[in-house]
Amino acid sequence: MAGDVALDETLLPLVSAHGSLMAASGPVLHEYGSSVRIGIGGGGRPLAALNEEALSDAEKSGLQAFRLRLSEPYRARKASRPYADVPWGSSTAVPQLHRDRQAVIRGAPVAQDPSAAPAGAPEAKRLAGRVAVGLVIVSGPGSLAMTDAQTRKIVAEVQNGLSYLGGQAPARDVTFVYDIQVAQIDVPDTQSAPPAGTKLDDLYEYYERPWRDAALAAIGQAPGGSGIRSYIRSIKAQKSAQAAYCAFFTHYTLHHFAYCSGSYLTMQYSNDGWGPENLDRIFAHETGHIFGAPDEYAESGCDCGGAWGFHRRPNLNCESCADNSVDCIMKRNTWAMCDETPYHLGYTMTGV
Ligand SMILES: [Zn+2]
Repeated sequence: MAGDVALDETLLPLVSAHGSLMAASGPVLHEYGSSVRIGIGGGGRPLAALNEEALSDAEKSGLQAFRLRLSEPYRARKASRPYADVPWGSSTAVPQLHRDRQAVIRGAPVAQDPSAAPAGAPEAKRLAGRVAVGLVIVSGPGSLAMTDAQTRKIVAEVQNGLSYLGGQAPARDVTFVYDIQVAQIDVPDTQSAPPAGTKLDDLYEYYERPWRDAALAAIGQAPGGSGIRSYIRSIKAQKSAQAAYCAFFTHYTLHHFAYCSGSYLTMQYSNDGWGPENLDRIFAHETGHIFGAPDEYAESGCDCGGAWGFHRRPNLNCESCADNSVDCIMKRNTWAMCDETPYHLGYTMTGV
């Protein structure tokens, strides 16, 4: 087991086919470059050998993340992670996962019309097939720098969180394909209070825009929503993926520590009171919102109606109204999933 995800994960060996090296067949959960593929079904055998000297930076970081997840210290930290099983809406021990009862932020720069409903994620209609994930790791000056160790931690936490979501897919047909960018920028942090009267939706942009647009420039993209859209579409095409989204990881001050703005996520490394050890589950939860899954904890203001996600199903596990609401990643800090969230995520449902 890697990390604390109950799956038999392994590094898939490369086999020679038609004169080129390809990964052996089998469900692939994670793909980094052309050589590092992590999949299901190792059976406890030693990891496949790779010519590590020849790996690209992305391939190396994927492999490092997997080894970190297999290590005893990492697994021990996961076994005793803080705030395990605490509801996302708890207002006592840790900050609520979402401010303002907004799972998805209105007025985000990707929104076509800020007055309309929260922007959907046009490149992420369902969690099925190849899913390109762009990780933009933002490193600023001084204490805003993202260290190599923190970058490794981020790649491992994302891998742990997405192993859970990929492993839950009934058809085992979800493969996450990564683009990892480290954006070196030098803009200062925004620590001053926003101007009086700043609208709720604009508060997110007030803190995010300066460093985000600098990070977009650092990776060769235009500012704001057009740059984010362009980046997401480019990785979707490059990776021959059916879906794509991206996430910014940062130490910069934010209006809130983790949120989804339609097509992309913004995550603070410290993860507020939840801590970096819970980045995996918060990333998995926020990825749920990218694909259209609703919150299920009472404080989110959920109700049992609606037509959510690719399969357009109601939110029947919302704890405010469900007779027997069960544990779920959309409800609390746990590796569990209710019967409705697979439909909300848009998994390929076998037998449907
Ligand atoms: Zn949420």
